[in-house]
Amino acid sequence: MSDTGKGCLYLCATPIGNLEDITLRCLRILKEADYIAAEDTRHTLKLLNHYGISKPLISYHEHNRREKGADIIALVKQGNQVALVSDAGMPAISDPGADLVQLAYEAGADVTIVPGPSAALSALAVSTLSTERFIFEGFLPRDKKQRQARIRGLQTEERTVILYEAPHRLTSLLRDMLDILGNRRISIVRELTKIYEEVLPMTLQEAVDYYLNRTPKGEFVVILEGMRQSSQKRDFSRISIEDHLKEYLAAGLNKKEAVKQVAKDRNIPKSQVYPFSIGLDTN
Ligand code: SAM
Repeated sequence: MSDTGKGCLYLCATPIGNLEDITLRCLRILKEADYIAAEDTRHTLKLLNHYGISKPLISYHEHNRREKGADIIALVKQGNQVALVSDAGMPAISDPGADLVQLAYEAGADVTIVPGPSAALSALAVSTLSTERFIFEGFLPRDKKQRQARIRGLQTEERTVILYEAPHRLTSLLRDMLDILGNRRISIVRELTKIYEEVLPMTLQEAVDYYLNRTPKGEFVVILEGMRQSSQKRDFSRISIEDHLKEYLAAGLNKKEAVKQVAKDRNIPKSQVYPFSIGLDTN
């Protein structure tokens, strides 16, 4: 660690299940830190006890991030070494750590990364879907309308999509995706590095059926195939040209783009699609 007397905030990636998935550097930083800021101190204590580390813990989570964030940055500015850990995996990805990085930057405090496990990348790697180009959507909004709007926004996304979801919302996410996106390929990645680790590559319809008689349990990452690969399999003759256009307009495309995309999907000239777009509203 720094011997300049200058403080630093260390973003420390911790295991997403198996406690052995921690780097030597991360263990050293945790041992040498003045404080450890943790999303769930009880959870982090299990990790620290496993490695015989005892440090003052600061609870830093979604509901106290404003006050505690300022306190943590003040400690760093006073010359303390503060390690930030989230419940699991990479801090600042779908957890309040991102705010702390911003706060540190604004205050001119040093921040550095101690890389390691990330649920998103680990899931993508074992998903069996294309890893060439991908995007991370994290958790979609809980509100049904907002969630469906975000899924519509993925209709024309060609890259593989990584999503986090809580077990009790998994089945509604799958149903919404099937309704809006059609029967794309997905991979349901569950409980990585734990006893019940499972990777289920299937179609959205198969996934909806699979969970009809099962209750989703554990931690999930859903990997969704991008549009280009799937659109070839979607049977567009089952919807009218007008409804097909409406899907793209709802996904945020303008009329010109929607006409172009529909013509491409159905392999027909744009002039054949255009008349159906005339009376349609754009958002
Ligand atoms: N910052 C963490 C990261 O990116 O590694 C993720 C934090 S986020 C609050 C927690 C979500 O990550 C879970 O709801 C789940 O979607 C995913 N996750 C964490 N651990 C996992 C595991 N072992 N297997 C599958 N998904 C996991």
